[in-house]
Amino acid sequence: LNELEENEERFRTLSNAMPQFVWTSDADGALNYFNEAVYEYSGLAKELVDKEGWLRIIHPDDAEENLKLWIHSVETGQPFLFEHRFRRHDGVYRWQLSRAVPQKDENGHIRIWVGTSTDIDDIKKHEEQKNDFIKMANHELKTPVTTIKGYVQLLLKTHGNSGDAILSKSLITVDRQVTKLTNLISDLLDVTRIDSGKLPLNNEVFCLEDLVRDTIKDIKAATQTHEIIYNSNSDANVFADKDRISQVLLNLFTNAFKYSPKADKIIIEINNAGNDVVVSVQDFGIGIDKEDLENIFERFYRVAGKDEKTFPGFGIGLFIVKEIIVRHNGNLWVNSEKGAGSVFYFSLPIHL
Ligand code: ADP
Repeated sequence: LNELEENEERFRTLSNAMPQFVWTSDADGALNYFNEAVYEYSGLAKELVDKEGWLRIIHPDDAEENLKLWIHSVETGQPFLFEHRFRRHDGVYRWQLSRAVPQKDENGHIRIWVGTSTDIDDIKKHEEQKNDFIKMANHELKTPVTTIKGYVQLLLKTHGNSGDAILSKSLITVDRQVTKLTNLISDLLDVTRIDSGKLPLNNEVFCLEDLVRDTIKDIKAATQTHEIIYNSNSDANVFADKDRISQVLLNLFTNAFKYSPKADKIIIEINNAGNDVVVSVQDFGIGIDKEDLENIFERFYRVAGKDEKTFPGFGIGLFIVKEIIVRHNGNLWVNSEKGAGSVFYFSLPIHL
């Protein structure tokens, strides 16, 4: 055997020994090789798969999006990444994660695409079960918590000013903690909704400045530690979900207080910038290290450090904030310096 044939043989043995699906295509995106696992799994004859490609195997509901993304990759040279269902020989569909990367020649022209598909069906099912569990737990927790909240507020109304200092102080504390618990529960639900792509938005046209001002008013009542300086330079309308944007503001405001315990003010601004309206929230607190900056918007990410340990939290607030802003075609970014403070910005398209 000459060297080329030997290499070819080695490649075939390797790819056929893999439980994953391995495939290649030419530069135009036409598939021209599948490993044995593809024929074995699908139960289809080699000639059929070679002639009709993967359309025989992919779930009809995934085919259109699949084709769209594949064409996009072939045209742009960007890696292909997609989750789709493949039909097994017995008719059962299983989820696969497919990736393909282009191999280029010395001139930078794409020679072939090499792709793999990995069975992620079990992982997907576990993920679904986990989300279902959180949804159920959420639902079961909501009823008692709502009841407690209702009674505490009733007691606050009837006994809050009774002159019994211990009683009214306790009621206020219970009320605050129950509010925290309620927010935590709904944050968890939001995460599962985001994961399954089902965060609902009820968009309407409103003036963002009004919402910022109202939210500041609400939060002012809850803080004695920080002065809020507010510079308002925009009366732009946005087309957005008011509750969700209010959630974004509350999250950013709360973080600004929480991560600047030694400071005495936060600065909030709203400005127009081109076709966008931008809100910024500045604190003078512990700040964020450069290397953590790009990760803080990931879910469950929390900065690890001596300073940060003292702050309670889950690491999902900014993840939710980012998802909400992105869903509104807006942007979220941050400038920060360790030890000096942070400025969080978000922008939304102005609704004309
Ligand atoms: P949580 O506050 O519950 O940990 P977030 O998702 O809101 O979760 O924030 C993620 C991480 O980003 C925090 O753990 C914290 O380390 C960092 N962070 C967020 N806001 C600020 C801020 N204003 N100043 C300094 N660090 C911040």
